[in-house]
Amino acid sequence: MKQSKVFIPTMKEVPAGAEALSHRLLLKAGLIKQSTSGIYSYLPIAARVLNNIEAIVREEMERIDAVEILMPALQPSELWEESGRWSAYGPELMRLQDRNGRQFALGPTHEEVVTSIVRDELKSYKQLPMTLFQIQSKYRDEKRPRFGLLRGREFIMKDAYSFHADEASLNESYEDMYHAYGRIFSRVGINARPVVADSGAIGGSHTHEFMALSEIGEDTIVYSEQSDYAANIEKAEVVYHPNKKHEDVQPLTKIETPNVHTAQELATFLNKPLDEITKSMVFNVDGEFILVLVRGHHEINDIKLKAYFGTDNVDLATEDEIINILGAKPGSLGPVFDKDIKIYADNFIQDLNNIVVGANEDGYHFLNANVGRDFEVAAYGDFRFILEGELLADSSDKAHFAEGIEVGQVFKLGTKYSESMNATFLNDQGRAQPLLMGCYGIGVSRTLSAIVEQNNDENGIVWPKSVTPFELHLITINPKKDEQRELADQLYTQLKENYDVLYDDRKERAGVKFNDADLIGLPIRIVVGKNAAEGIVEVKRRDTGDSEDVHIDNLINYVNELYTNL
Ligand code: ATP
Ligand code: MG
Repeated sequence: MKQSKVFIPTMKEVPAGAEALSHRLLLKAGLIKQSTSGIYSYLPIAARVLNNIEAIVREEMERIDAVEILMPALQPSELWEESGRWSAYGPELMRLQDRNGRQFALGPTHEEVVTSIVRDELKSYKQLPMTLFQIQSKYRDEKRPRFGLLRGREFIMKDAYSFHADEASLNESYEDMYHAYGRIFSRVGINARPVVADSGAIGGSHTHEFMALSEIGEDTIVYSEQSDYAANIEKAEVVYHPNKKHEDVQPLTKIETPNVHTAQELATFLNKPLDEITKSMVFNVDGEFILVLVRGHHEINDIKLKAYFGTDNVDLATEDEIINILGAKPGSLGPVFDKDIKIYADNFIQDLNNIVVGANEDGYHFLNANVGRDFEVAAYGDFRFILEGELLADSSDKAHFAEGIEVGQVFKLGTKYSESMNATFLNDQGRAQPLLMGCYGIGVSRTLSAIVEQNNDENGIVWPKSVTPFELHLITINPKKDEQRELADQLYTQLKENYDVLYDDRKERAGVKFNDADLIGLPIRIVVGKNAAEGIVEVKRRDTGDSEDVHIDNLINYVNELYTNL
């Protein structure tokens, strides 16, 4: 294509507030245009890359016998009432009404719709297993849309859903999908790592997230350098190896701690190490208040609390609620009280005795609180985040941390939707049973951003060959000069027979053209300049920057060889 005809509005300066590198590069290289917060148009270069990513996704889905469909984005609320998510989904669900006042959702995901379409048709075990997928825009009213395409309110997702008669079949499809995802991310040029993730209230290890390693990633990955253990920090288990202190039990002593609000301030005030202090926090679990106790250097992980209690309804109590039930503000809370509030303690609390805790009176703490004498613990458990350097659950290594962007997720749903939505099939005994389901998502537009996040240099994007919007960038330095323009036109005609060529025929200064070419980042650049009269052009690789003068008689061979070996 002639660049003069392609809409590529490159920018010199990107607007303030574009924090992520990929966001800046996508704006700067003229790939996207913001419509409003979290909503973007994909301009020609981005549209081409999306097509390439989608083609790879389709190939890998077909390879594992997943079949493409296209479901509506507009979904009637009745389906969401059936699954129970109309009320459970919360403010991220975009809701709207039609002219008759009927309620709809703009689909953030499609479990309800897909279950409703198969439940009437998949009736026999003989029709199973089946996997359906689609590539479509999704809508989520994200609290903090940011980082450009990485967290949008409208974004493109590949979502797949599988249906099974038994667990073994679900496991097989899950494995297939897991490997297909590995191939997809490596083919599009992303260094992604599958990590064990939290599966919410369902519990168990039924899900993996694929994380593209990146400094700006919103997720922390905990991994081993000695084994293939990798988990989202939300999920990474902390194994308790007792290391108890043996101190004589001391009498409970109340002390004044003016202006102490945090564990760190308390440690400083008492001149004690942070890990000898404790922190107490009050949570509302399904309507019941509980107190959770951890050591001062640990952080409570509410995702683990949700898994432990088997509910998504775990919320930190508000300050008003806390004052109401314990009579003190959050900075002075502790487990010593005479109330009907259960206490849950992190396993590592067991290493301490004579504990420092809040006295449930503003500005006071207790020294030497002891379990059994001063308070009872309903249960100990793994309620906190692992720290860097702690022993991993598989004992292979210390915990290493990395940041990652979740580009995909595979999930065993089981019968969550088929039960609530009454999707059954007849098994080989003729008995009705709920379908087993899996669901599998890839953030296609997020993947586009993640590719840019991982493939760039100080001058712009460096597209992996597999997804590049064009293969060759042909540039005339000065199209006003006949010999340059004529040679470039002739090469364009020749090269486009075998390659996708972007031909910069614009009457712009050479500097502008080179800057744009670097930003846009096509794998090979062919420059027709001052040696055009001798039939010599410059061929340059975008990734290494290596360049060579090549005579046009050898150009096709030279480019073929170079391109194949990129
Ligand atoms: P996150 O934890 O990042 O909010 P999620 O776990 O809610 O994502 P899923 O429901 O698993 O997302 O959706 C499947 C995929 O869709 C994700 O793995 C991610 O790549 C992509 N995705 C989810 N939310 C967004 C978003 N707001 N913008 C762009 N892509 C998204
Ligand atoms: Mg996810």
